[in-house]
Amino acid sequence: MTAAPPQNEPGRRKAATDPRLPPRAQGAGVGAPASNFLRAIISEDNRSGKYGGNVVTRFPPEPNGYLHYGHAKSIILNFGLAAENGGRCNLRFDDTNPTKEDVEFETSIADAVRWLGFDWGSHRYHASDYYDQLYVFAEWFIEHELAYVESSTPAEMRALRGTLTEAGRPSAYRSRSVAENLDLFRRMRAGEFPDGAHVLRLKIDLASPNINMRDPAIYRIRHAAHHRTGDKWCIYPLYDYTHCISDALEGITHSICTLEFQDHRPLYDWVLARLADGGQLPRPLPQQHEFARLNLTHVLLSKRKLIQLVAQGHVDGWDDPRMPTLVGARRRGFTPEGFKLFAERIGVSKSDAWIDMSVLEDCMREDLNARAPRRMAVLDPVRLVIDNYPEGRTEECLAPNHPQQPDLGRRALPFARELWIERDDYQEHAPKGYFRLAPGTEVRLRFAYIVRCTGAEKDAAGNVVAVHCTYDPATRSGTPGADARKVKGNIHWLSAEHAVAAEVRLYDRLFAVPFPGARNPAGTPVDDAAAAAVVAQAVVVAGDDVDDEVAEPVERNWLSDLNPASKSVITAYVEPALATAGAGEQFQFERHGYFVADREDSVPGKPAFNRTVTLRDSRMQR
Ligand code: ATP
Ligand code: MG
Repeated sequence: MTAAPPQNEPGRRKAATDPRLPPRAQGAGVGAPASNFLRAIISEDNRSGKYGGNVVTRFPPEPNGYLHYGHAKSIILNFGLAAENGGRCNLRFDDTNPTKEDVEFETSIADAVRWLGFDWGSHRYHASDYYDQLYVFAEWFIEHELAYVESSTPAEMRALRGTLTEAGRPSAYRSRSVAENLDLFRRMRAGEFPDGAHVLRLKIDLASPNINMRDPAIYRIRHAAHHRTGDKWCIYPLYDYTHCISDALEGITHSICTLEFQDHRPLYDWVLARLADGGQLPRPLPQQHEFARLNLTHVLLSKRKLIQLVAQGHVDGWDDPRMPTLVGARRRGFTPEGFKLFAERIGVSKSDAWIDMSVLEDCMREDLNARAPRRMAVLDPVRLVIDNYPEGRTEECLAPNHPQQPDLGRRALPFARELWIERDDYQEHAPKGYFRLAPGTEVRLRFAYIVRCTGAEKDAAGNVVAVHCTYDPATRSGTPGADARKVKGNIHWLSAEHAVAAEVRLYDRLFAVPFPGARNPAGTPVDDAAAAAVVAQAVVVAGDDVDDEVAEPVERNWLSDLNPASKSVITAYVEPALATAGAGEQFQFERHGYFVADREDSVPGKPAFNRTVTLRDSRMQR
């Protein structure tokens, strides 16, 4: 298919400067959109007037599951290219497989596209809208001796198909007359035959080196109700035939798809050219262009495997924040802007590459850093007692909501004698370079005072139960002279009396390794060339089912690579202002990361937060 995915070595991965990543994935700025081969093709078509300056794209999901991060790349690309060129992008449900599709998925797909910020206006279509027209065209192909009814069994068809190096051979049915073909095809439609008894095949070239051109099947019998057309049909058109015609009927100019369809392009062009030559479709015809699908480390972007994760209970549903679905992403706190930044940064290319998960995480950090209000939360609390601070007294410290955006204002944090601080902000024996609390050291309590640590109380087991300190009243932040004394450490805190307990879910990557299921999960991903060959072999007979059925050759059980620490639920303390956080509101918990009030479980007064991403990739600090 394309160049073998690059190798990496366990333990030496440094995401942000990963030599395997394309240069644009390494953190180049956003600025003006970078040129890419699709933008170049479109501007050339606009220059030459090929489509009269129109740019019409489509996003064509099959409504058989929830969208994943890979689809976000495709959505942003298709809607983005149309928008950049004053064109439009259609949302088309590619619903040619009656047994796997459902309206539930359509709703969720439409929601996900809208969530990413795109609007198809009135251009929401279904491949099933074209079933009548597709049928008429199929009869046209038969009448022009360009299609015939094949009655061999699947095994016989396989035997006659030939191989990559050997031409296919005709079955006895290839020479059926037009009248016989029309009669059989009409009886197929009328429901006279059981599933699998016949298929309609195009008559192209059994000797073609491209297996897709060896008389591909375009209709099969399926006695199954369709979620939109009900029992009207018992024959259904296959993907390759349906897709190109749907594009043409909608006036698509640029039909953008992933690389695995490259070998299908001659078929796409053949079908449309025959119909156009026969006066059945207007020119100019749509043109297919392929780009490399998103391959992302530490997750799997295959519907089949995602279904398995949900069905077997490895995650808490499709919208589990660890799932690489767009519903999961939203619940996790990933943002549409972050995905757009990511799509722009990784660019589009014509060869397969792997993008490290840290690139996506960095894009989310960048977006959230710019807009998430800052808040204090203590995730692993230990008590800090300020022995010289008057008992019963409280005062208010003002903290900016965003350090770079003064317009977002400030909020008051109650300060008192007993505080919560992070357990790891105290160490009895401070190692070199540790600038936080240890007996005798000084730190600033952020937005409040400088304190000097005097020691700690321990329980019988030796666990620290309270840290003690004294404060210097002359060092209150924001008062004259407060900065006179410099201290290296600066820690966050919460008043123990005022802090609010909250459930916090700490999410980490779903898989512990970059390439789940690969023979060398830390290094070499699946063997692309082998996978492509299997798909090519399967295409002729199986039609649109194949990409689901023949997945990558699994080398190890990918489930064994799940990260057992991908979720932990803790009770943390958060500042009072967070008690009323609205569902979906996003924050930076200072020194920890970005968090979102869970869309389902967080209610005012009883907040629950999901960690979207940590402030830094701690894995990089080796
Ligand atoms: P899966 O392989 O997960 O089953 P799919 O390709 O079958 O996904 P579709 O509903 O057919 O899912 O995809 C809709 C569109 O999204 C197609 O144009 C497809 O090329 C694109 N797409 C799917 N996966 C990716 C990906 N990983 N990167 C980029 N585009 C993708
Ligand atoms: Mg598909």
